[in-house]
Amino acid sequence: MIWPIAFSAVLSAQQNDWTLTYEKTNFAETGRYQEALDFCRRLDAASPNATVLELGNSPEGRPMIMLVLSKDKNWKMGERKKPLVYLQNGIHSGEIEGKDACLALAREIILPNREKPGMRALLDKIDIAILPVFSVDAHERMTPYNRINQNGPTEMGWRATAQNFNLNRDYIKADSLEMQNLLNWVKDYDPDFMVDNHTTDGGDWQYALQYDVPRYPTMDEGIRSLSQNFVDFAMPKMDVMGHLNCPYFGGFDQRNPSRGLTIGWFGPRYSTGYFALRNTPSLLVETHVLKDYRTRWQATYDLNQLVLEWCAANAEQLVKSRAEAGKAMGETTDVSLGARNTRDSEPFVFKGLVYDGYQSEVSGGEIPRWTREKIDIPTTIREKYEGTLETRLPVAYLIPRAQIEVVSRLKLHGVKMTEVGVSNPTTIDLPVTKFSNVTFATSPFEGRFQPRFQSATDEGKVKVHPGDYLVDPHQPLGRLIMHMLEPSATDSFVNWGLLNPIFEEKEYAEAYAMEPYAKKMLAEDPELKAEFEKKLAEDEEFAKSPGARLRWFYERSPYFDRWLNVYPVVPIYSRPVVDFLIRKN
Ligand SMILES: [Zn+2]
Repeated sequence: MIWPIAFSAVLSAQQNDWTLTYEKTNFAETGRYQEALDFCRRLDAASPNATVLELGNSPEGRPMIMLVLSKDKNWKMGERKKPLVYLQNGIHSGEIEGKDACLALAREIILPNREKPGMRALLDKIDIAILPVFSVDAHERMTPYNRINQNGPTEMGWRATAQNFNLNRDYIKADSLEMQNLLNWVKDYDPDFMVDNHTTDGGDWQYALQYDVPRYPTMDEGIRSLSQNFVDFAMPKMDVMGHLNCPYFGGFDQRNPSRGLTIGWFGPRYSTGYFALRNTPSLLVETHVLKDYRTRWQATYDLNQLVLEWCAANAEQLVKSRAEAGKAMGETTDVSLGARNTRDSEPFVFKGLVYDGYQSEVSGGEIPRWTREKIDIPTTIREKYEGTLETRLPVAYLIPRAQIEVVSRLKLHGVKMTEVGVSNPTTIDLPVTKFSNVTFATSPFEGRFQPRFQSATDEGKVKVHPGDYLVDPHQPLGRLIMHMLEPSATDSFVNWGLLNPIFEEKEYAEAYAMEPYAKKMLAEDPELKAEFEKKLAEDEEFAKSPGARLRWFYERSPYFDRWLNVYPVVPIYSRPVVDFLIRKN
């Protein structure tokens, strides 16, 4: 009977070992996905404050999990009383210090023998949800050759999923299974603060970390000012802790930063841009690719800890501001569907390294290089925005049930929808959106061929079917709804190609059928005849083309498809019409 005792002692020693691969290898390596899975499940088994939620499987069949830390073991969405802080890692699986930092944080919050002073008290004020790895299949495409720019770990995951989707472009269109699994959770649990941990690429400079906290004109004003409070709290502290940081700049000449920095706007295809429209303050963390893994891990750990501390200290305000933002949508009449930098710039001192580019015999061009000599470069920074695409909220959007790509996504995002009350198909006169000059991209972007078009409003006869939906944008997710359904918004469903079949003509007229009909139209309609003759006189190419001439009549005949290039989603600006459609009749 000795053997089983010894065995169980070994087992219990293993169970008490909470060190991760990055620690065992002194920051040389990161663990495989199985390590993260086991770690979270062991925390669940060992602690009354940890719960693992299953989000579903990835395309390659790996379980996706969320680790929830809470004082309430039987934590359920409907019963949660505290703000929920969501820490997301490995959306780009090669940029993986967030996973190791957040697992260490979890351990140091809830395990009595590993607890850091004061950390457990965070759970008196907040609940925490940690997604250890988002792009789990990509995490296991682990090789030393995935990110040539990056300074460790020795092997790392890949940027895109097994289907080659970049998850950080997929928040709105949600084509990937990983995103659908996540959004299903987001819809139910509605986090109150969101962090997305990355590693940036780019040139060399002193900053260990860059950040973006959305404070855009596309957002609710209360959430913007709360987000500013977070920046004012956290980022100076990061400097003091030795993590030199600055905003995440996009427009930037890395050889010559004195030309100015611009902090761009992130639309809702991106993580932080998406949560901004859910009235959830958010933080993009981009540690610097050339800093070593230990430095990046520490900066990520400390900033995520500061997020938790700020959320705990501001728990009541966070819940209040989000509730107010939701309520304010009830009174909102217009929203901005885009943003651009204003011309305003502020003086800024860029903490750079001395540039030392060299001429390459291989490329024949100059290769960027920096010495280790630090340099302060006086420059300017543009980080103020103005709203664009100011758009009026309709009373409701009518969504045909037949547009299942649209309907399923609205449901996935958690949009509140009402079925129309009509019991039989009913035709009503309503203005509709017509697209013209429709062209398509010649190569796919994130798996979609995106259309380009102009749009205008025109009279329409809209057939409403039982089971069609009405979506009122005066609800907490109203801004998100507008960005998904207004064709002018960059990330709208129609711009992403979710409605591409509406641009395809499916029926046509043979010349032998059209010619006699055109003759009849000319005979019966003198105005049409005059218009045709004018066109013949003015448009030489048209006059020479038998096909174009017959097509001209086909488009004006009742045989032509009235729904070609017409947006099937109909914004309704009339309250009586919406009331009529809601009423049971
Ligand atoms: Zn990234």
